[in-house]
Amino acid sequence: MEVKVMKNILGENDKFAEENRKIFAEKNILVMNLMGSPGSGKTSLLEKILQKISSEFKTAVIEGDLFTAKDAQRIENLSVEVVQINTSGGCHLDAQMIKRAAESLNLDELNFLIIENVGNLVCPAEFDLGENFKTAVLSITEGDDKPLKYPLIFKESEVVILNKIDLIPFTNFNLKNAREDLTTIHPNIKIFETSCTKGDGMESFCEFLRTRLISKEIAL
Ligand code: MG
Ligand code: ZN
Repeated sequence: MEVKVMKNILGENDKFAEENRKIFAEKNILVMNLMGSPGSGKTSLLEKILQKISSEFKTAVIEGDLFTAKDAQRIENLSVEVVQINTSGGCHLDAQMIKRAAESLNLDELNFLIIENVGNLVCPAEFDLGENFKTAVLSITEGDDKPLKYPLIFKESEVVILNKIDLIPFTNFNLKNAREDLTTIHPNIKIFETSCTKGDGMESFCEFLRTRLISKEIAL
């Protein structure tokens, strides 16, 4: 019974996701779904990305949050267009929420749309939003056991960012094991190591985004 209900919800979601994907493709917008635990550093990463990318590519953000607009405010401070979705306790974003939020953006002008999902390692991975690719953020302080404990999010993500890499000396996080586990779960996953506070690794991740953005323009 429960399984059937879940299937129906996901089937309904997939219809909206396909509609979103079609609209984004028509407008030639690259869409990244940014996922990860609360406190993994999604918003801090987003700030760093926007500082590097938003002057080159017209970028907007959809912010998912349980109740507050705190993260959206941080994005607004960078003069980047942002739409806030409050899920009122809901633990993930779904494609219908994205469809509604996207209606308030000027899609004709956009090159890049970043969706910050609700902080959660579990169900955001199950909901296709119509994005081009998913990026999972895993911070060093969460522990190197998380890939094997929450494999779906890493299976679904094209990219994983190991954030707070500067804290490695203060933890027992084993980078080699984490990389091996990630590659076992998802053989071609791209792994970046970053520190938002020190700035490490941000340039190589932004270079990956630029390549993605440019190849999308060439593709049309
Ligand atoms: Mg956040
Ligand atoms: Zn959920």
